[in-house]
Amino acid sequence: MNNPSDTLLAQYAPLEIWKAAENQAARSPHKQHKTGAIIYSGSSYRSRDDIYSTGCAHPHDGGKVSRSTHAEQHAISRLPNNCGYSICLIVTLTRNNHYATCSRPCKGCAESLCKHCCIVIYAEKCTDGSWAIRSESPTRLLRGFLIPTKENT
Ligand SMILES: [Zn+2]
Repeated sequence: MNNPSDTLLAQYAPLEIWKAAENQAARSPHKQHKTGAIIYSGSSYRSRDDIYSTGCAHPHDGGKVSRSTHAEQHAISRLPNNCGYSICLIVTLTRNNHYATCSRPCKGCAESLCKHCCIVIYAEKCTDGSWAIRSESPTRLLRGFLIPTKENT
């Protein structure tokens, strides 16, 4: 499967949010890996009005620090004040608009997300070819939980 199924995605976030993140990713000027991020209300999400900010960018490097502005940083920079309990959902697409093997935020983005979001959600392809969705606090990501199940080669 090139992409996680809608059924799987919908178990973790409204499909509307996933599609919004895919649309952000598709806007990225990068050709190889295009990332989109949506920060939305985790406590009151009912409609698009509860999306706090969106961001797009930039090559995603699977956990290493990069100097370019990443989608997550872009979304954070556009956040209004006092967002409260918020979730950052990240989608990275390949050249063919398929989900990338792992859309995990890099260390720098995870550090920034700690200050603004309680939860980060992203998709990851398992070694058996199936998809998993990660829903985890950025703090735990930084502490090394949920390392990628497949090495980036
Ligand atoms: Zn990043």
